[in-house]
Amino acid sequence: MTNAATAPEGVAGGALIGDAVRLPNATGLHARPAAMLVALAKKYQSTLRLVRGEDEANAKSVVSIMALGTRQGDILRVKAMGADAAEAIGAVSALLVAGCGELHEEAPVAVAMAASPAETVRVAAPSVNALSGVCASPGLAVGRIVQYRQDVIVVAETDESPEREHGKLVAALKAAQDQIEALKNGVADPAGAAILDAHQHLLQDPDLLEIAVAGVMQSQAAGHAWRLAFMQYAQQLECLEGAHNALLRERGSDIRDVGRRVLALLAGVKPSHIDLPHGAILIAEELTPSDTASLDRSKLLGFCTTTGGATSHVAILARSFGIPALCGVDEAALALAQGTLVVLDGAQGLLHHAPSESDIAQAHERMAQQAARREQEAALALDAAVTTDGHRIEVVANVRNATEAREAVALGGEGVGLLRSEFLFDERDTAPSEDEQAAAYVAVADALGAQRTLVIRTLDVGGDKPLPYLPLPKEDNPFLGLRGVRVSLDQPEMFRTQLRAILRASGKARLHIMFPMIATLEELREAKALLAAEAAASGHSDFKVGIMIEVPSAALLAEQFARETDFFSIGTNDLTQYTLAMDRGHHKLAKKADGLHPSVLKMIALTCEGAARHGKWVGVCGSLASDAMAVPVLIGLGVSELSVSVPATPAIKALVRRLSLNDCKVLAQEVIQLGTTAEVRARLAAFAP
Ligand code: PEP
Ligand code: MG
Repeated sequence: MTNAATAPEGVAGGALIGDAVRLPNATGLHARPAAMLVALAKKYQSTLRLVRGEDEANAKSVVSIMALGTRQGDILRVKAMGADAAEAIGAVSALLVAGCGELHEEAPVAVAMAASPAETVRVAAPSVNALSGVCASPGLAVGRIVQYRQDVIVVAETDESPEREHGKLVAALKAAQDQIEALKNGVADPAGAAILDAHQHLLQDPDLLEIAVAGVMQSQAAGHAWRLAFMQYAQQLECLEGAHNALLRERGSDIRDVGRRVLALLAGVKPSHIDLPHGAILIAEELTPSDTASLDRSKLLGFCTTTGGATSHVAILARSFGIPALCGVDEAALALAQGTLVVLDGAQGLLHHAPSESDIAQAHERMAQQAARREQEAALALDAAVTTDGHRIEVVANVRNATEAREAVALGGEGVGLLRSEFLFDERDTAPSEDEQAAAYVAVADALGAQRTLVIRTLDVGGDKPLPYLPLPKEDNPFLGLRGVRVSLDQPEMFRTQLRAILRASGKARLHIMFPMIATLEELREAKALLAAEAAASGHSDFKVGIMIEVPSAALLAEQFARETDFFSIGTNDLTQYTLAMDRGHHKLAKKADGLHPSVLKMIALTCEGAARHGKWVGVCGSLASDAMAVPVLIGLGVSELSVSVPATPAIKALVRRLSLNDCKVLAQEVIQLGTTAEVRARLAAFAP
């Protein structure tokens, strides 16, 4: 947050945009302060807009500002386009900071809410010295703030020679490819490299190139045409895809990232480099994968971004770096002075910006304890996860490919509880062939070996996450439309091809085939009939069939479903969003869509009861399985398999070894009687990492 006139520091669709301002006016921008703001705005030629999240108002219209319905504490930015844009942003931002002529008191700091890496929420003690965010990566760090803002890249708007501009664009695209290739060489972990790979693909995206070339042919300068193209394209994708799948959701910001790289080349400016001192905690509105990949990890202790969520690329990268990070942190973090000493608590989702000496000493003590615990956990990672009263829990992993499956095994993973097959289908123009798919599934099975379980989930896309080659209609409610198994049943040929490919992995691992987003018995029966036909035709019979429980109807009818399946795996991410009617990717609701809400726990209890009546096992492959606070409750409710994120494996196994099944049962019965997530989390506080 800023306390002084702000210099513009970013671009939005060709406009300049200023720093965030927290609105001090007790009753928001009502008529009087709005009129004062308009009077000032009208002194400037530029078009001026007030931006609050996704909403915007014309800063030269009192009605438009009032219609924005601002409240004290809202985060606003001023956006301007025109000759005097920079000056206008500075003046209008300063007036906002000063309360537009009204005396004010500072808005209270928001009550601290935070989330685990599992997209869940925990209530932290409210503190005026702490800013809250979503936990992107757990861990603790004591360091000094480094603020980072992207530079504004200025380019000419028009040019007389389309041929020359086209040539420049082609050269810049090639140079960007080379830059990314060089960056990839310096990125050791597969997750980071995969993101940069995706960037290289984006640079060849025909639709994106077509928009840019069309602009050049209409006499736009290459830089201008390119900027319009990638901004428009990013926006289109974001609107199309909603916010469900982590990788798909991130594509918009990937396009902006790779787009800026090409833009910088066209403008002849160096791509922004973040120079870090030792012990840095980086604060930014957004960190692109390119920014993140070029950070000096020996100097970086952690970072916070005001955008993004627990499933964003930057979160994935932070976890692969093994450093604490928060996404969606309160925008006030942007106003913390360079060099401020802070304590970043990833697991609690808190950035303490005025820690006392004792806070710092405590943080150091906790860091030492955590390091010692991690060492112990790693040493015992390959041992089984057996409770103190002798009950074995299978701890397996969520993976996307054979590389991750191998990593999981090395960290003590006892198998794969969720192979997300959709990643094979993404980022391409045609569906993968049977042979291609079979090779990928067999590679994962081979990484595990014949004695380990491999649960392959059939294609889980659709609606909010379209595939370019799938002719699905645009839907008003994509989360409630053609999604998961419904897409497969709608496209039986594609489904049959996938089933044939999956069956080819049978015998190479203990094959389990799982259908996502089953809501009705008819869907299950239809899917099973297709599977049975393919199994009969190929002569494969060595596999189990199960469903994901992620829709309340499936949890409520678990007993009926258990009659016709071999196992259940609970997708707590979707089960939470459908139980609470809260979009799991919604920028305001995602923090509240917590799988430890008692209603979701009751759904899990029903699922376990239904399965137990027919002697079927229940796993959890949603994020709740990796959440230490949830583990005792899940076990107590009857879950016997936890499919966790690969790095969480040793810690979850170690936790299971400290629990007793009997105590877990008592605890589970107690917490499902509670009324709110906060009460549940408070009761489970002792299990927090
Ligand atoms: C879930 O919904 O919990 C799940 C594991 O599936 P996904 O996150 O891929 O939708
Ligand atoms: Mg799901």
